[in-house]
Amino acid sequence: MKANELLRRIPAVEQLVIHLQRQNRANWLDHENTVKALRTAISEFRQLAQRGDVEPTLAQEQVMEWIIRRYWETAELVVEQSLKKVINATGVVLHTNLGRAPLCVRARQQVMTVMEGYSNLEYDLESGGRGERYSHVEKRLIELTGAEAALVVNNNAAAVMLALGGVARGKEVIVSRGELVEIGGAFRIPDVIRQSGAVLVEVGATNKTHIQDYERAINPATAAILKVHTSNFAVVGFTGQPEMAELCQLAHANNLAVINDVGSGTLQPLEVQGTAEPTVQECIAAGFDIVTFSGDKLLGAGQAGLLAGKKCYIEALKKEPLLRALRIDKLSLAALEGTLTEYATGAANEMIPGWSMLHASLPELKEKALKTMECMRFLSDYGWRVGVVQTSSLAGGGSLPGVELAGYGVEVVPLAASAGSVAKQLRSGKTPIVCLVRDNALIFDVRCMLSGDDAVLADRLLQIVAGNPA
Ligand SMILES: *Cc1c(COP(=O)(O)O)cnc(C)c1O
Repeated sequence: MKANELLRRIPAVEQLVIHLQRQNRANWLDHENTVKALRTAISEFRQLAQRGDVEPTLAQEQVMEWIIRRYWETAELVVEQSLKKVINATGVVLHTNLGRAPLCVRARQQVMTVMEGYSNLEYDLESGGRGERYSHVEKRLIELTGAEAALVVNNNAAAVMLALGGVARGKEVIVSRGELVEIGGAFRIPDVIRQSGAVLVEVGATNKTHIQDYERAINPATAAILKVHTSNFAVVGFTGQPEMAELCQLAHANNLAVINDVGSGTLQPLEVQGTAEPTVQECIAAGFDIVTFSGDKLLGAGQAGLLAGKKCYIEALKKEPLLRALRIDKLSLAALEGTLTEYATGAANEMIPGWSMLHASLPELKEKALKTMECMRFLSDYGWRVGVVQTSSLAGGGSLPGVELAGYGVEVVPLAASAGSVAKQLRSGKTPIVCLVRDNALIFDVRCMLSGDDAVLADRLLQIVAGNPA
């Protein structure tokens, strides 16, 4: 009886919304979520009232206060964050602006394990004393690359700088003119060399550098030869660079260090349309003293810079004071260890998202595109055109420069709205969707879309189309 009376004192949701608007307090939830949170607070109140856990004499105003207070408590938990999950419908697998490689399950689990509490990050459990953070991945990297030793830092830019500083500070480094690249984000090889304290000596021409060009540049001030993966461009036509082994032999015959910045770097072969990425193993076997590569490109882990190479060089780099400023954090290290384990167990192609996206076959992609289009069928009721189209995706992350990967996507042509404005609306949802816009069509390349993304995309398009009636 008493409970029923109390329940009658619950204000209508609209009344509560108005009450919230009158409160001089920023509400970051949109209308839909505000109503949802209010309904949750109301149903909690109902349950308590029915159990007799609320003072039965509460007046309507006090009931309202209770619900509003509860509303703010739940709203606090859903504060909008700036860093959001985004759906990648661009077809660029290792999209630097979208966070590069998605992590495999094992890496995510390893990150969770390490971040929840304490870990043996720099603690040797056997001796009960200080340990080394690099030890958690060094053995694995040695096994996988065939190198004598390995070291990990914050990113590959840091790895290159550390290697050059350690090997050639105050001395000359020889680099081919065809490899003086800018990777993006102001990472330019000439600048990195300068910052490391080494002196750049350019040899050869843009399209061709011969072994003799390197040889002629060697003098008593020379400390190293650096080879750099051209990453984001391809020189085609009359081109040439010395074989890797030839370059290493020349360096060693002159007591020079020889470094290879392979950029993305890969631990397993990757060849598409005749363009192959050099594997780290091949570079080590060719004789490079230090090979540097990224953790979050083809490797598929989080941000990290890896150095694999000869023990004498790696051990010396571990003593560089600069290393402290470049050190990898425990979460990235955890992601790296989890990812490397997939290579060690031979499961990289199946388990690492980037690899399954790169290897997705045309029939698989076509089926995925058809399934995605199926979710968007309703668009035609609004006069929007929907169809499956062929796409050309990119590996991204400085790998396979110039190679277009044939794939499939869904093309949507809106009616009475420009594709650009729809794309903008798609970027503004709770889970932003980033796609391609061509002429007046939106293209959703399905290669990098993850399980469940199609439903989120369809939901968002429905909201947009319903608000944009023809
Ligand atoms: C991407 C890249 C880098 C920079 O690597 P980060 O991990 O992004 O710091 C350096 N060198 C080459 C050749 C690259 O492709």
